[in-house]
Amino acid sequence: MGTLVDVVLYADREVAPEAAGQAFERVLRVEAEAHPSKEGSPLFQVRQGKGAKIEGDLARILETAMKVSRATSGAFDPTLGEVVHLWGFGRDDPHLPDPGEIAQALDKAGYNQVPVGQNFPEGQDIWFDLGGVAKGYAVDEAVRALKEAGVKAGIVNAGGDLRSFGVRPRRGYWKIGVQDPDNPQELAGVLEIKEGAVATSGDYQRYFEEGGIRYHHILDPATGYPAQSGLRGTTVIAPDGATADALATAAFVMGPEKGLALLERWEGVEGVLITDDGTILTTSGIGEGGIRFERREKTSD
Ligand code: ADP
Ligand code: MG
Repeated sequence: MGTLVDVVLYADREVAPEAAGQAFERVLRVEAEAHPSKEGSPLFQVRQGKGAKIEGDLARILETAMKVSRATSGAFDPTLGEVVHLWGFGRDDPHLPDPGEIAQALDKAGYNQVPVGQNFPEGQDIWFDLGGVAKGYAVDEAVRALKEAGVKAGIVNAGGDLRSFGVRPRRGYWKIGVQDPDNPQELAGVLEIKEGAVATSGDYQRYFEEGGIRYHHILDPATGYPAQSGLRGTTVIAPDGATADALATAAFVMGPEKGLALLERWEGVEGVLITDDGTILTTSGIGEGGIRFERREKTSD
């Protein structure tokens, strides 16, 4: 998934190493399953129009992806695989694709082609890219593995998409930094949560520059180009990682007003949005229910 994953856990000494091992194993399994280009895998079958019935982890990832796609009228769209591929994000050679190629690839995409029940018939080819949701799901699975192994509290962090569970000894809550998009080594603020997932999407995470323009990896499904919605970063707090991950990507594409409204109306979800001019917007539930956000003053420009 192109990121480091770390696990912090509180457990008896005999349990801890084994539990951590199982958590990493689950992450690797999800990574392998969610990859659309692995030959013989269900997603590869679907991409080639050979038909497949999607089950298990993959079915659950797709379920969350489709729920968010439908709720956002496709601002989140897991069928952008070919468009993402043309841009080359996630590979060593991201570059500006040919506009004609983007248009063609975009034409074939569209979340509303995904059959209900995820039973893909032969002859229907869809190129999935689950990069906007799979990391969050992997974190959910790692947490599940830890709990099954008898761990009482912990946090799994996949490059900023994370999930905590249990009561953290001594403090009782987890502190999570929200990066300043202008200066990602610094923090725009700090979140405090008890249990739950936090995911961030930003234009500073994966990008390249060409002709003085920054092209980042969160695409507007309406154009096939990087979303320019007025946001630079979105951080979403949700009960589970997959939902937090997908909603962060969706809100980024939707922009400050629609993105904030989306997070406000989603049960159990809160968010912190950072706009192009550095304004920080938060949903109304922050400050309640054990979630706090504290802004940090800028130390540099
Ligand atoms: P990160 O991978 O940095 O956590 P995101 O969760 O925002 O970031 O996911 C971005 C990834 O999701 C892209 O690299 C691409 O694989 C995929 N993607 C890009 N645009 C969209 C979109 N509009 N809807 C769904 N997935 C997208
Ligand atoms: Mg995401």
